[in-house]
Amino acid sequence: MTVTAERPAVPFFAPDLFEADREALLEALYEVGTDPEQKFILGRRTARFEDALRTRLGSADAVACSSGTSALTLVLSALGVGPGDEVIVPAFGCAPLASTVLSVGAVPVFADIDPATLTLDPARAEELVTDRTRALMPAHMFSFMADMPRLRDLAARTGLRLVEDSALAQGGVLRGTPAGRWGDAGVYSFVQVKVFGMPGEGGMVLTDDAALAGRVRMLRNHGQDGRNRFLHHHVGHNSRFDEVMAAFQLHRLAGLEERVARRTAICDHYSRSFADLAGAGVTAPPAGGDGRFPYVYTLLCEDRDGLRAHLAAAGVDTHVYYPRTLPEQPAFAPYAPAAGAPPRARDAARRNISLPLYPHLADARVEQIVSAVRAFALGRKP
Ligand SMILES: *Cc1c(COP(=O)(O)O)cnc(C)c1O
Repeated sequence: MTVTAERPAVPFFAPDLFEADREALLEALYEVGTDPEQKFILGRRTARFEDALRTRLGSADAVACSSGTSALTLVLSALGVGPGDEVIVPAFGCAPLASTVLSVGAVPVFADIDPATLTLDPARAEELVTDRTRALMPAHMFSFMADMPRLRDLAARTGLRLVEDSALAQGGVLRGTPAGRWGDAGVYSFVQVKVFGMPGEGGMVLTDDAALAGRVRMLRNHGQDGRNRFLHHHVGHNSRFDEVMAAFQLHRLAGLEERVARRTAICDHYSRSFADLAGAGVTAPPAGGDGRFPYVYTLLCEDRDGLRAHLAAAGVDTHVYYPRTLPEQPAFAPYAPAAGAPPRARDAARRNISLPLYPHLADARVEQIVSAVRAFALGRKP
């Protein structure tokens, strides 16, 4: 790696992501730790955090739980999805899209993606609906929300439940409706890399369905109703939310808008700087547009591994989110389509590469990244 004073290494995962909030984190730890209540999970701070997101997103209820993965599992379980059922999911995405379906005893059916947004293609999903299909579970990807208007229409026409995996899509709004608010339920993840990440594990279920919310609330804490301790109405899970993290997220909520705006500005600058590179084998997402959010900035590149090596030599660390499709994973291969992994999903897995993106990424580092990508595409040395 060539690293100089003018060209320092730019990590993909910033080691100082929470540095500006160090005092708030230490204070939250001390406050919760010494609170006479001695309640470390599902206390009043968690309830306040649920209220804050419920109000912000305009949902009837918000239920905090232990991760985005767990949130999906609780929703599928609360909807009654189980053995004999099929759930249509995108063939390109993260493991929980398939593993949560399998964990409730149902089968994931992998549909191909839209080649531009890399999200579940509603037309491909529709072709896979059978009389065993119970739900559609699209996911928003990188910086694009899935085509929720068409997926919602498909769910309504076919009588399917719609579970919106908006784990990473905080800040996304499509036709005036925020990510997480399109389906029977939506989920968020707060694992550190997500737009509203934190130094720990956590998730949230958003829904307007009071009965569904009540069931998720019970399932997250061993099937108890929150009033009668050691009365278990359902076979539940341990999926509870941490009070220190709730206090920290309440503190960080105030700065969320500003961090989203900075991330968006960096994405837009990348897109404007790469707009002319499509002919040179590097395809960038467009700047702006409805239904966009600044989670990860992802390019599609014919010579992805070449670009990756070139950027590494220029001191720029990159990441490949999902080098293979879900049906090509050993764990999910038994559920792969007979014809193999769908072609656009395979193409995305082969070509995707993500650039560093975080709110405190300095302008000079952004320029360093831009010029390194351009140099590669235009055939110059780093
Ligand atoms: C991160 C993520 C999840 C899982 O969230 P965790 O909190 O890590 O369990 C699920 N779906 C998508 C699309 C994600 O990006």
